[in-house]
Amino acid sequence: MTLLDVQNLTTYYTIGRGSVKAVEGISFQLEKGEAMGLVGESGCGKTTAALSLLRILPYNGRIVTGKIVFKGTDIVQLSEDKLRKEIRWKGISLIFQGAMNALNPVYRIEEQIVEAIQLHESNVKKKEARERVGKLLEMVGVDKSRARNYPHEFSGGMRQRAMIAMALSSNPDIVIADEPGTALDVIVQAQVLKLLDELKKRLDLALLMITHDLSLVAEVCEKLAVMYAGNMAEYGNVLNLFKKPLHPYTQDLIGAFPNIHSAKRLMISIPGSPPDLLSPPSGCRFHPRCKYAMDICKKERPELKKVAENHYVACHLATR
Ligand code: SF4
Repeated sequence: MTLLDVQNLTTYYTIGRGSVKAVEGISFQLEKGEAMGLVGESGCGKTTAALSLLRILPYNGRIVTGKIVFKGTDIVQLSEDKLRKEIRWKGISLIFQGAMNALNPVYRIEEQIVEAIQLHESNVKKKEARERVGKLLEMVGVDKSRARNYPHEFSGGMRQRAMIAMALSSNPDIVIADEPGTALDVIVQAQVLKLLDELKKRLDLALLMITHDLSLVAEVCEKLAVMYAGNMAEYGNVLNLFKKPLHPYTQDLIGAFPNIHSAKRLMISIPGSPPDLLSPPSGCRFHPRCKYAMDICKKERPELKKVAENHYVACHLATR
């Protein structure tokens, strides 16, 4: 069952010098119980895409065009009141980037999760919300006796678990995890990842994992979406993309990661740097860095086209 159908989503930020074209024309679907990794270099529009899904963009951000259809309802057209009462947290929730900074240091963990519950479910009494917090903390592997602690009394991993508990507090269908491993050491990162995977299976959650770390995606996700400079470069089944990446950017991205199962080789790096999205390159935005760039690449933006079952690519070379 398709829970989320994002069609041609375009989001810009207005700044003094013009419009930053942070996300332009991206499309993807998320099924019930499915995990999708959204990857790409910093500044490629991953977080903007996630914030657009919940319509919690900064004041200068706006969805210019496109549809975000969640369970048959277009979120883009929904009133702010309906969005808050019906979608945010109850339908789609978000584990914010950097648990260290996302929790308020002067409030107890319990109070912060209770507040999140009551904000989105106004009919829930404080006593009931507190009981829910205890259960949620146990579910994410934190003893409920720690509910009255302040964030500084938690380790980094426990704070990330508390953020996950908060994201699950209103039983959402989809959880967006924005860089869930950031600032955690590799052992704790693996534990958090395992927890997310377990919760996904136990609660039949759909998971949208935003990361620049392909190894995290390979561990947990069934689907992979690769973004470059605000565009969708390649999208589909994670095995298809890892085995046979067709977009030169995906190939380079995978080539830049070590694989402990294959022969030793030198890591490749992608020459150049991502473009300025105030005035992105014409045609394919990757053309200034692409070793296969052709004339057409500078003129025509490649559309995302189906090349095989569960495999879509936006590249003139792969789809001609
Ligand atoms: Fe390279 Fe052209 Fe494909 Fe863009 S469309 S990735 S420039 S070959």
